[in-house]
Amino acid sequence: MDRNFMDEVIEEARQFTEKEIRPFAGDFEQNEQVPRELINKMAKRKYLAAPFPEEYGGLGLDPLYYGYLTEEIGKGCASTRALMTVHTSLVGETLLKWGTKEQKERYLRPMASGEKIAAFALSEPEVGTDAGSVKTSYIKEGNKYILNGKKKWITFGNLADIFIIIASEGKNISAFIAERDFGGITTKPIKGMMAGRAAYIAEIEINNLEIPEENLLGKIGGGFTFICNTALDYGRYSVAWAATAVAGAAVEEMVTYARHRTQFDQKIYKFQTIREIIANATTKYLTSKALCINAGNLRIQGSDEKVFQTTLAKYYSSKIAMEVTTDAIQVFGGNGCTSEYPVERLFREAKIFEIIEGTSQIQQEIISRYALSNFYRKKAKAQ
Ligand SMILES: Cc1cc2nc3c(=O)[nH]c(=O)nc-3n(C[C@H](O)[C@H](O)[C@H](O)COP(=O)(O)OP(=O)(O)OC[C@H]3O[C@@H](n4cnc5c(N)ncnc54)[C@H](O)[C@@H]3O)c2cc1C
Repeated sequence: MDRNFMDEVIEEARQFTEKEIRPFAGDFEQNEQVPRELINKMAKRKYLAAPFPEEYGGLGLDPLYYGYLTEEIGKGCASTRALMTVHTSLVGETLLKWGTKEQKERYLRPMASGEKIAAFALSEPEVGTDAGSVKTSYIKEGNKYILNGKKKWITFGNLADIFIIIASEGKNISAFIAERDFGGITTKPIKGMMAGRAAYIAEIEINNLEIPEENLLGKIGGGFTFICNTALDYGRYSVAWAATAVAGAAVEEMVTYARHRTQFDQKIYKFQTIREIIANATTKYLTSKALCINAGNLRIQGSDEKVFQTTLAKYYSSKIAMEVTTDAIQVFGGNGCTSEYPVERLFREAKIFEIIEGTSQIQQEIISRYALSNFYRKKAKAQ
């Protein structure tokens, strides 16, 4: 893909976010929905299919530029950007990798055009981190699978037309592509969310949902090892950029505020301790972005390190998004504590990144395992 073209896409997305998303993020939260018209506008610009090849209605962006696009949209509104994480990455990119030709033909174009919205349904009321224990069940009856169970926290679940659903039969975990029109799916919005209030987060009741056998995604028994692991890797990459975006937005807000706010007859950025906050926040934001860029480049190269480096980027970016948004509130003082200013929302949005796509504790587990096998000086004696 031509770099000039991809640079133009990012510049256009920046302008689009500034005009159509960032000024209204608070309103979206209040109305508890990203407006359908905005989703349609994003689809028209092919943002919902940014990494899909052109044959499926996409922009064909490489992983690095898809990351840049995620950052631009994510600076405007985390709920709006969440659509790209679930619809485009968790479902779309996973379908691209594991779907049959027929499945890709049937689902990717309507997803690219925004005619159909997709969500990824793994978590359940009793099952989160231990995703291999999902209780939603399936059995084969003739040429159909019958699913029953409950899913929880499903982002864009209340709007979605298409779902990837992870279910089990004994020890076998499998993935299915369900359409709301099949019947057997009831969604209910989850109210009172700390963030993602506009992201149609839902509980799902699955009642004798009949799925035609051609809608099995991947192989029977491959739902966890192949489908979930692939989807969560795409999701983690998207969330790493999303957290970086929130940190970047917080830096922009704190700098802007520090340049305008006057105390003791001078702009507050003149105080050395405020500049220290700005310096540290900027360092964390740009380090986080560098880790995302590194992960993106490794994904382009198809390197064996890409999954680990994506985990590292997700862990670090979500951790520093929390720190940087906390610091942004400090720079805003009392004004940072009200929804009149965007840093209050950014702070709430940041916390979510430490929980979704694998909690920080799970990322620490993976990173420590990497360290224990890669940084062990076998010949050195313990002191
Ligand atoms: C805003 C939001 C959007 C979401 N969107 C989706 C979605 O679209 N689709 C979907 O399927 N799910 C979604 N989720 C669910 C999310 O993936 C889970 O919340 C997450 O996996 C954690 O599971 P849990 O909440 O059940 O926490 P638990 O698994 O119960 O964990 C509780 C605590 O125990 C810790 N813990 C658990 N196991 C271990 C361990 N082995 N070692 C160390 N610590 C451990 C965790 O780190 C955490 O601190 C969403 C959640 C939120 C909040």
